[in-house]
Amino acid sequence: MAAQETVEHKYVYDFAEGNKDLKDLLGGKGANLAEMTNLGLPVPPGFTITTEACKAYLATGEEPDGLADQIAAHLASLEQAMGKRLGDPRDPLLVSVRSGAKFSMPGMMETVLNVGLNDRSVVGLSAQADGNDRFAWDSYRRLIQMFGKTVCEVPGEEFEHALDDAKRAKGTQNDLDLDADDLRGLVDAYKRIFLKHTGREFPQEPREQLDLAIRAVFESWNAERAVVYRRQERIPADLGTAVNVVAMVFGNLGSDSGTGVAFTRDPASGAQGIYGDYLANAQGEDVVAGIRNTVPLQELEKLDKKSYDELLSYMARLEGHYKDLCDIEFTIERGKLWMLQTRVGKRTAAAAFVIAGQLVDEGLIDLDEALHRVNGAQLAQLMFPRFQLDHEFQPVAKGIGASPGAAVGKVVFTSARAVELAAEGADVILVRRETNPDDLNGMIAAKGILTSRGGKTSHAAVVARGMGKTCVSGADELDINIPQRKFTVAGQTVTEGDVVSIDGTTGKVYLGEVPVMPSEVVQYFEGSLDPEHIDNALVRAVHRIMSHADAKRRLTVRTNADTGADAARARRFGAEGIGLCRTEHMFLGDRRELVERLILARTDDERDEALAALLPLQRDDFVEIFREMDGLPVTVRLIDPPLHEFLPPLEQLAVNVAVAQERGEDVAKEEALLAAVRRMHEENPMLGLRGVRLGLVIPGLFAMQVRAIVEAAVACAQRGGDPRPEIMVPLVGAVQELETVRAEAEKIIEEVTREKAVDVLIGTMIEVPRAALTAGQIAEAAQFFSFGTNDLTQMAWGFSRDDVEGAFFWRYLELGIFGISPFESIDRDGVGRLVRIAAEEGRAARPELKLGVCGEHGGDPDSVHFFHEVGLDYVSCSPFRVPVARLEAGRAAVETDGSDSR
Ligand code: PEP
Ligand code: MG
Repeated sequence: MAAQETVEHKYVYDFAEGNKDLKDLLGGKGANLAEMTNLGLPVPPGFTITTEACKAYLATGEEPDGLADQIAAHLASLEQAMGKRLGDPRDPLLVSVRSGAKFSMPGMMETVLNVGLNDRSVVGLSAQADGNDRFAWDSYRRLIQMFGKTVCEVPGEEFEHALDDAKRAKGTQNDLDLDADDLRGLVDAYKRIFLKHTGREFPQEPREQLDLAIRAVFESWNAERAVVYRRQERIPADLGTAVNVVAMVFGNLGSDSGTGVAFTRDPASGAQGIYGDYLANAQGEDVVAGIRNTVPLQELEKLDKKSYDELLSYMARLEGHYKDLCDIEFTIERGKLWMLQTRVGKRTAAAAFVIAGQLVDEGLIDLDEALHRVNGAQLAQLMFPRFQLDHEFQPVAKGIGASPGAAVGKVVFTSARAVELAAEGADVILVRRETNPDDLNGMIAAKGILTSRGGKTSHAAVVARGMGKTCVSGADELDINIPQRKFTVAGQTVTEGDVVSIDGTTGKVYLGEVPVMPSEVVQYFEGSLDPEHIDNALVRAVHRIMSHADAKRRLTVRTNADTGADAARARRFGAEGIGLCRTEHMFLGDRRELVERLILARTDDERDEALAALLPLQRDDFVEIFREMDGLPVTVRLIDPPLHEFLPPLEQLAVNVAVAQERGEDVAKEEALLAAVRRMHEENPMLGLRGVRLGLVIPGLFAMQVRAIVEAAVACAQRGGDPRPEIMVPLVGAVQELETVRAEAEKIIEEVTREKAVDVLIGTMIEVPRAALTAGQIAEAAQFFSFGTNDLTQMAWGFSRDDVEGAFFWRYLELGIFGISPFESIDRDGVGRLVRIAAEEGRAARPELKLGVCGEHGGDPDSVHFFHEVGLDYVSCSPFRVPVARLEAGRAAVETDGSDSR
């Protein structure tokens, strides 16, 4: 068929022409349909219109040249394969028109089924279905409904209301009770709705239906909900969707027909077995929408053993072929099984680890590949707390544990309200009968999602799992009344704002706030669960994969910690030292008074006295930290923020002084404070007297800190410890700054370590662009560099880290100026380039220079990969991020350095 086409650009591929690796061009669905076709599985024939055609259409608003002819040619060969013609009045070929982007976007884009039906072919369809009039008219009304809503933007509720009216007239609540006559009447009603909203009759010409449906799928790429979903999932906006045109097969032809969804392993827990939902006498959309309650897939064995066995054999085959969990959509048409879709299935974070471990055991993948199959975001999710085991709450309902975790929050019933309350800082649980793509914003805002209908494959379940949100679906004991914003359950009424707790693992729903406990994964990291001796598939898998990541990674992982307790916890989580100990908190609390004395000192003596009083306190802080990190490096950063941050705010102080003066009180001290605050006031404190500048302006300040650090180290060493202090100077922009501080520090080190030798390194942060650009000079005076990517980002972009995220980042994200905040994930092109330059020039000047990063980016998965590529020695991040950074550093090593076993 392709050979006949003389057009240059190929926009349409027959299923037999594609394969699973062509996802960019054919989308995930199209590529996998092609793969299944080529594996010889029973896939209904069809073709795929490429993402390139979609992009061309979206760019110009018109189908690209040649597309219409290519569709005609492929349609002709499809007609030939099926022995039917599209919309033939006697024996119509019907097709489905389905979106399929490179990355799965469940329910986000459009599908139109039964294309090819019209007033005449509906009769032919009935004849071909052995006179099953009901089926034919039901198919026709579904086409008008889907076509109207999707292609012509007719409000969907209008069709729903007409359907409800028909059921009411019939005295039933069940669609299946409507007979052919009722459905014929419904088709008339739907056509009137169509006419009213579009000003034209429902199109009878099959090819026109097809072309309009294809257009609508193209356009759905830019539907608002798809845009929101892509932003949330970080899917690029310019990929476009492919369109699959597939011969229809029918699951609604009677009790020997049906449709279902199957997973080769449990996508929630990873457990092996047969998971899925089946719905007899129904079309696929009914299952995915969760509109009718399904039965577990196992029951198909009783209903249709032949199809069941066949399905199981295909599932095994697909899993062996893809070497991963597959999810599958299938339809049985009068006892004949058809495979409608497969893909590597979405899974929860827990399932990702468990399945990766199982696949290694089964010899399907190696450990490098297992590491590649999980990620830091999933690990972070597993470190969330869960409900306490021994709480006394009784569940009021039990639904399906659709996406694990423990969520507690105020009940809301609409997406808009969820967004509103969440913006006010409340934790909310979005409660719906079922969700649909319009609920997306609410789902993003909510802590958890609770529905009364739908199974593990309902929209709510699939989307929540993708987002890592807790979800309980199908809790059918809940009687939900959305307009009145309430639900009743177990004789109790719950209204908006009441607190509920939902357990996405067990599916249990509780009224009130159930206490939560840490995750097993955290307990494992903390050392209280021994993976060798407990029967917990998740903990064992995490242990195994983490061990492999540790064996592979080149980056060392340190932690940012300012207290002994944080240091100890981070060490249990695998931290191999401290990359940033911020000393400023040591100037707060009950030490404020001493700091005030320091700042207000009028003479050298007063200042020296205040510093002398601070010295032993600082020393004790460091002793504790060195003890917890014994044998590992501890980078202590000299004080960074401007000193006025340690004084009360100007306005408050001014009011206090005025009030006290009014009362005739003695305000001499407050006045002095106020004067000092006024004196130190800066318009741009982030760019003002802070960091090394402060150290050069306030005599003795850095010296006191250096002395405290070195004395603490000596004290630890004298007690038999192995302290490894590294002194770090903040905000250096010129080598002269560092040289001045270093000269003073070296004198102190020399003096203090006379008692007991301790190695002390002196290095600098690289967080001012000038420092990055003169790194070669600075390296002459530094034994290590630590990239302060928070300040480096602020100064490279020229925006204040304290203000801009709330002020305008939303707009920048919307415009795609950046895909993610550069404070969250390193801006490789700009800030990253500064890091690269500094690393290269620093190392050129001093080959043994140690390089690390201690900004927030040190714990961000994508940034960790970047720092690995640049060749830093370590990343440093908050204690809870340490396991994430270890995992990602291992993944980065396996991905960029290649594997020795593949
Ligand atoms: C940084 O700027 O990246 C850094 C680690 O220092 P701080 O956040 O304390 O300014
Ligand atoms: Mg900084």
